[in-house]
Amino acid sequence: MNPSSQSCALCGRSAKLCRSHILPDLAYKAVLDPTVHPRMVVVRDLQSGRISDTTHQTGFWERLLCENCERRFSRYEQYASESVLSVVLPLPQKPEDRIVTLRGLDYPRLKLFLLSLLWRVGVAKGAFFRCVDLGPHEEIMRRMLDKEDPGEPDEYGCLVAPFLPEPEIDVRQLLSQPFSTRTEGHNGCLLTFRGFAFQFFISRHAIRPGVAGSFLNRNGEVRMLWSRIGAFQPLRMLWNRSVHAIRREAGAV
Ligand SMILES: [Zn+2]
Repeated sequence: MNPSSQSCALCGRSAKLCRSHILPDLAYKAVLDPTVHPRMVVVRDLQSGRISDTTHQTGFWERLLCENCERRFSRYEQYASESVLSVVLPLPQKPEDRIVTLRGLDYPRLKLFLLSLLWRVGVAKGAFFRCVDLGPHEEIMRRMLDKEDPGEPDEYGCLVAPFLPEPEIDVRQLLSQPFSTRTEGHNGCLLTFRGFAFQFFISRHAIRPGVAGSFLNRNGEVRMLWSRIGAFQPLRMLWNRSVHAIRREAGAV
């Protein structure tokens, strides 16, 4: 296919499309090791057969965005990395320290980053992203992103949760398949990368104040709760099954 004849998924202009990472580059920082081969191994949850797949050597990308839109998204990513995702947060020493509030954030930039994550996962065609279908929200989010409109804090709000350390694995290396979720009666989507869970709320009606109050707000504050991987049911199930599959494959070699 000639990439020059395609239209950008965000602005719709006909352009040469970039190899756009669906999850941002920073998601792969602790995952890809350029000094070894294979650089990245995808663990699939299969009942039988091989589970490791080494074909995704530079992460998951698709021809999605024109250069201009790609640059916009990279600016959001850079800001998200500097302001939240690459910040070294002190580990909580006691249970009441598990809630961390970050302040002084740029609401539009960080919110647009979060929106861009959810939208890209919804728009991606690759099998890794098949569990997420945003339906009519895909177009609503596309328009918001195209206009650089971050919307209200509870519009596609997202709970951001750093993972507590786990024995034997570096939690920053966990990059799970995006899941569709049903949380507190709301349709949502759960993304996991770089040591964080991102729980998006897609429907907006009557979100509990405790939840909505944790979303990034217009004052530039976001409330995060240090969490165990196992606190997220889809991740707990995935982890248990992956461990079985990895052991089985290791035994079969
Ligand atoms: Zn574009």
